[in-house]
Amino acid sequence: MTPLTYVKGIGPARAAMLEAKGLSTVEDLLGYVPFRYEDRSNVKTIAQLAPGEMATVTAEVRSAKLSGFQRRNLGLFEARFSDASRAILVGKWFHGGYLAKVLAEGMKVSLFGKIEFDSYSGELTVLHPEFEILSGEDDEGEAALHTGRVVPIYEAASKITTRLLRSWTHRILEAIGPIDDPLPQYLRQRLKMPDRWTAIRHTHFPPPEADLRLLNQFRSPAQFRLIFEEFFWLECGIALKRSKAKTLPGIAFEITDRVREKVKAMLPFKPTEAQKRVIQEIANDMKAARPMNRLLQGDVGSGKTIVAAEAAVIAIENGYQVAVLAPTEILAAQHAFYFGQILGKLDYVVALLTGSFSNREKAQLKKLVAEGLIHVVIGTHALLEKDVEFQRLGLAIVDEQHRFGVMQRLGLVQKGVHPDVLVMTATPIPRTLAMTLYGDLDVSVIDQLPPGRKPIITKHATADRVEQVYSFVKKKVEEGRQAYVVYPVIEESETQAMKAAQHMYEHLSREVFPQFAVGLIHGRLGGNEKEAVMQRFKEGEIKILVSTTVIEVGVDVPNATVMVIEQAERFGLAQLHQLRGRVGRGAAQSYCMLVTEKMNDTARERMRTLVDSTDGFYIAEMDLKLRGPGEFFGTKQSGLPSLRVANILRDTEILEVARREAADFVAHPPALEELQKAVAYIRDHWQRRYGLVTVG
Ligand code: ADP
Ligand code: MG
Repeated sequence: MTPLTYVKGIGPARAAMLEAKGLSTVEDLLGYVPFRYEDRSNVKTIAQLAPGEMATVTAEVRSAKLSGFQRRNLGLFEARFSDASRAILVGKWFHGGYLAKVLAEGMKVSLFGKIEFDSYSGELTVLHPEFEILSGEDDEGEAALHTGRVVPIYEAASKITTRLLRSWTHRILEAIGPIDDPLPQYLRQRLKMPDRWTAIRHTHFPPPEADLRLLNQFRSPAQFRLIFEEFFWLECGIALKRSKAKTLPGIAFEITDRVREKVKAMLPFKPTEAQKRVIQEIANDMKAARPMNRLLQGDVGSGKTIVAAEAAVIAIENGYQVAVLAPTEILAAQHAFYFGQILGKLDYVVALLTGSFSNREKAQLKKLVAEGLIHVVIGTHALLEKDVEFQRLGLAIVDEQHRFGVMQRLGLVQKGVHPDVLVMTATPIPRTLAMTLYGDLDVSVIDQLPPGRKPIITKHATADRVEQVYSFVKKKVEEGRQAYVVYPVIEESETQAMKAAQHMYEHLSREVFPQFAVGLIHGRLGGNEKEAVMQRFKEGEIKILVSTTVIEVGVDVPNATVMVIEQAERFGLAQLHQLRGRVGRGAAQSYCMLVTEKMNDTARERMRTLVDSTDGFYIAEMDLKLRGPGEFFGTKQSGLPSLRVANILRDTEILEVARREAADFVAHPPALEELQKAVAYIRDHWQRRYGLVTVG
């Protein structure tokens, strides 16, 4: 681990800038690979250029000028270049005002672009060429790095240009000798991958025969090898963690006829085939004498809750307690209500524990839980408090996992002795990604909606037509239905959102719907108040519920068939899909109205996606595409490892190969030593980054 300041040209100031990009060692910089390559091997003099060709020239700036609306950065920037051939090439940039500070007379630059002939002026021109300033701090001979070859382009890091990064990387590669290759030999042979040293060198500085197209698709042999390697160690880490979890002693629940009778007595409806399959997978895990670690994935409204309730019955009938962790008070209250209703039939005691309870209430509840008198405890973060102790915790259910970190999950698990764990999520992500994201979990998927559901009809309206939306709401309420009207929460300012909702509530209740009971719910209401409002909505007393996004997850009122989302452009796709999932929960036709004020292109794309589709899987994919994996997964929260070379979205097929190879390697290592070597390597290099708390 050599600090970057050892590299010539990197002083403390630059090191700090690199550090901000997560680059602090020489190894980090070698892992910072080009995001694009440019073929600058077709280098010509200006006199040799022919209109229509893509070419690179190395030339000097003779003059530069900006014309047009300079202040608004709308100007046309024009620079005239010449070289040893003494011919002139004119570079033009529209909206090029910013270049006035970048390109100046006398600078040597490399230009790359499509050469054109301007018949008006009779000059050779190039529009918006790629360019790189060549004058600068170079060692002898390094100039050849930047032109006359396939050149790597790096993402600049504040003031650190692609050119500096290229020079430094080159210096490092010159200075250090070949490095060891930690990948098992047989893999390299089978997948025909270059060794590590070659792969690193060729990724930064492709050899002359390299295929530019493959390089720009991240599929040159060198890039493949680095991407594969990154995934391989990650997947080995996960495989080791899983195999270790499987050797822990767990609870072997018994599923007797009595348990089956109880489950039958509890079920309010016939489970779908998908629900049956999933509950079977869960039951098998629960029977086994090792802890269950299962992720239950299913679109909003697919019926995950009843599956969780069945698992709860198994645990309780075996003499254990169940904990249900929910991300919001509303959702916790919903679950408490639902579980209370269906499990109450079996005379189980269900209790709710949230942060808004008084200390006395909490203390009382905690005592009952500790004594084992409560069968199912449902709660928010309050459940994780140290002094919540169970007499015999057998099953921990975590809802909407993406809101909880892995550590919180562990916090709950530690309240029992290797209890079974069931994690529920409505974020439908491709299976391979799920397995990587949730690492150590087995995955079950409910891929079918309960019978009789009609797809929700989604419409998009601009704010100037909101009256039409309201009259539609009025019509539906007159037919006996209920509606939600949601306002966005801007995260920094829950108070403002609350005010906006409050304001709209007054407007709607007094002016738009004076004839109906309108309710208001937002994050600043106390837990009891929230519950009271929800209860009145559930009972049909409140017809129209105005809310901030507190209802985002889990609310279940089948008679509510209209969802109006105001300022929908402010929400992300996944969130909009979740919100929409609050309707369409019964047999009646449901509607979602997206009302927008100001939209940009991606917002328009989001609205279109929702109008077109109710398929959570498709929507998640679009979301991934529009936002990119980093933001989509919210890496920090989700515990998703930070990858350097690989990109989970772009490289899914390599991830799959790596996953298969890793599982095979861990299960049947060519030699025990190889496995031990790998474990040591992962410990040293990957554990911290991947958050694999314990490996092997
Ligand atoms: P989610 O997966 O979003 O948590 P829920 O568990 O809240 O979904 O279920 C959505 C609604 O569908 C609930 O009203 C639930 O009672 C109902 N439901 C679930 N499964 C079935 C089924 N097999 N038949 C009929 N209704 C069902
Ligand atoms: Mg749910």
